[in-house]
This record gives sequence, structure tokens and C-alpha cells, in this order.
Amino acid sequence: MKRILVTGGAGFLGSHLCEKLLDKGHDVVCMDNFFTGSKHNVEALRARGNFELIRHDVTMPLFLEVDQIYNLACPASPVHYQYNPVKTIKTSVMGAINMLGLAKRVKARILQASTSEVYGDPEQHPQREGYWGHVNPIGLRSCYDEGKRVAETLFFDYQRQNKVDIRVIRIFNTYGPKMHPNDGRVVSNFIVQALSGKDITIYGDGSQTRSFCYVSDLLEGMVRLMEHPDLVGPVNIGNPNEFTIRELAEQVIALTGSKSKIVAKPLPSDDPKQRQPDISLAKAKLGWEPKIALREGLIKTIAYFDQLLKSGESAILDSHLRQPQG
Ligand code: NAD
Ligand code: UDP
Repeated sequence: MKRILVTGGAGFLGSHLCEKLLDKGHDVVCMDNFFTGSKHNVEALRARGNFELIRHDVTMPLFLEVDQIYNLACPASPVHYQYNPVKTIKTSVMGAINMLGLAKRVKARILQASTSEVYGDPEQHPQREGYWGHVNPIGLRSCYDEGKRVAETLFFDYQRQNKVDIRVIRIFNTYGPKMHPNDGRVVSNFIVQALSGKDITIYGDGSQTRSFCYVSDLLEGMVRLMEHPDLVGPVNIGNPNEFTIRELAEQVIALTGSKSKIVAKPLPSDDPKQRQPDISLAKAKLGWEPKIALREGLIKTIAYFDQLLKSGESAILDSHLRQPQG
């Protein structure tokens, strides 16, 4: 049994990770500033004796005795990370410095939740870990992409210079229950729009592609990397099944039986045209590959949002997200 800190632990991935670690018998400290995450996501965990919740901003130092740190704190949806771009880059960079400093001090192993966005709008397809990427340093997505790239640099420099025990995972588009209904990312947007009979908003012509991974698959890969004796990464974790955004919209309409219409909206700048992980490394070294196909994962996620929208709880979550963030 270990004592484990999860930063961003009240968010979509973080809350599922806290639950998985508790189920394995660990002591879990969940730290979050509740920008995009919510106490609602960890409500059921708060009754468990080996769970603690701390309101804290990762841009500030934190002193704790822990064995492992999963560093997930950072808004992940383009809508949210562009809401306060300076804060986003501070969260990635200062957050990494603070958590690496903590890991160094207490000799904890630390895992960084990096992203496929480090590949930018990729000119290599599918993307392997050795690809250095094609990122605009001054665009609207740069606060997130470059922040995450600097965080990776910091991880490897702390490893070389201070012998910090690091792990770096590059996460490709992941979806599932506990995404925020107003998250702004494509899977939750389409499902919420379809269930509430609103137009389904495709940005651009919908020919851009993404490869969607279900949350339980992603977390299994993440924990396997953390537990691996010597694999440091970066390791791509995602589902290589690639779909156009139009195909995704059509699947969501078919699975919900919705009468929503598809409408076109402008394509945001620097929106990557294609994305698919090469997961050979994860397969070979972690014995990991995703098990849940898009259709199966969408059915589970639709059931979650259907219940949430009917319960009226999404209104509480919405009002939370409108609060201004310093
Ligand atoms: P999310 O927005 O649901 O979760 C992020 C969490 O971090 C939230 O709980 C938020 O309140 C918290 N947070 C934000 N800024 C903070 C700060 N300054 N201090 C403390 N907490 C802060 O997003 P998610 O999808 O759960 O993503 C989790 C991590 O995984 C992020 O680092 C993200 O970049 C990475 N990631 C996710 C995906 C994906 O598809 N879900 C893909 C690539 C990378
Ligand atoms: N997208 C869309 N409609 C939406 C939200 C997103 O067509 O309502 C598109 C977006 O332009 C991008 C893809 O879906 O091409 C994935 O967007 P998301 O914000 O989920 O994540 P990204 O991979 O771009 O960070």
C-alpha cells in the first residue's frame, strides 16, 4: 500500500484514477483547485477512510509525504485552456516545477499526464513517440501544447540533473462518464447536444480525424506505466481506431436515436487535421492495448449523460464552471 497524490484529482480522468487507486488499497490524496473539476466527481469517494481531498492550486508549492505523484492538474478542453491562457501555461510549467520539487524532496516517483498535443498538427501519421511534432508556438492552442512540452522537458531535466524517478504518458483523446457536460470537447458536446435535441456542431467540414480511447483503458495504461520498474517514457496511450468527426456525429445520432441536425461551425485555428497513436511501445513494454471499441464506450457514456441531464445535477455543475478564475 502506497500514499499517492493525484493532482487534478477531481477532474474527469483524475476522479476515475483516484477510485482505481483506492480500489487497489492505496491511500489517495486528491488535490484540485476545482477550475474544471468538481467535488461532485469525488463525492462517493469522500466516505472512504483512505481518501483525502485538498483544495490547492498546483502553481503554488505543496508539502506532503507521498510515495507517488500523478500530475494531472491542467484544463484539457480547448475551450477551458483558452479561457485563461496565461494561467494554463503557469499550471503546466509551475505545476511541473512544484510537483517535481516535491518528488525530489520526498523521493517519490512522479508521472506526468502529457498529451498527443505535443505532436501539434502532425506531419507523421500515425504518431510515434520519437516524432518531435509540428506545433505553432504562438497560436491559440500554444498555451496548452507548449506548456505540456515544457513540462516534459522539465521532467527529463529533473531526471538527468536530480535523479528524480519520472514517468511520462502521452494521452490521446479520451472520453467517458464524469466528463463535464459543458466541457466543450467533442464527445461530450455531441452526446449532450443529441440528448437535449440541440444541433450537433461540427467544426469545419468534419473530415478531421481523432482516435478515441475509453477512460478505463486509458487508466489501465497509465497505472501500468507508473508501476513499471524502469520504463520512463514518453509512452503513447490511446486507441488507434481513427474516425472522422462527421463519423463520430453520425454514431452518436444513431446510438441516441436523436432527431438533432448536424450544423457546420467555423474550424478553430490550428485544429489538428489528423491524429492516431502508434501504440507499439505500450504493447511491447506494458503488455497494454485498449479493449473498449468506440461504440461500446459511447453507449456507456451516453447512459451517464442521460442520467445526469435527467437528474438536474448538470445545472449545478454548469454554474460552477461559469465562475471567473484568477
Ligand atoms: P479535466 O479538465 O476534467 O481535469 C483537469 C483537472 O485539473 C480539473 O479537476 C481541474 O480543476 C484541475 N486543475 C486545473 N488547473 C489546476 C490548478 N492550477 N491547480 C490544481 N488543479 C487544477 O481534464 P481531464 O481530461 O481529466 O485531463 C486530466 C489531465 O490529462 C490533464 O493534464 C490533461 O492535459 C491530460 N490529458 C487529457 C486528455 C483527455 O483526452 N482527457 C488528453 C491528453 C491529456
Ligand atoms: N469539434 C467539433 N465540434 C465540437 C467540438 C469539437 O467538431 O462541438 C472538433 C474539433 O474542432 C476537433 C475535434 O472535434 O477537430 C476534437 O476536438 P476536442 O476539443 O475534443 O479535442 P482536441 O483533440 O482538438 O484537443
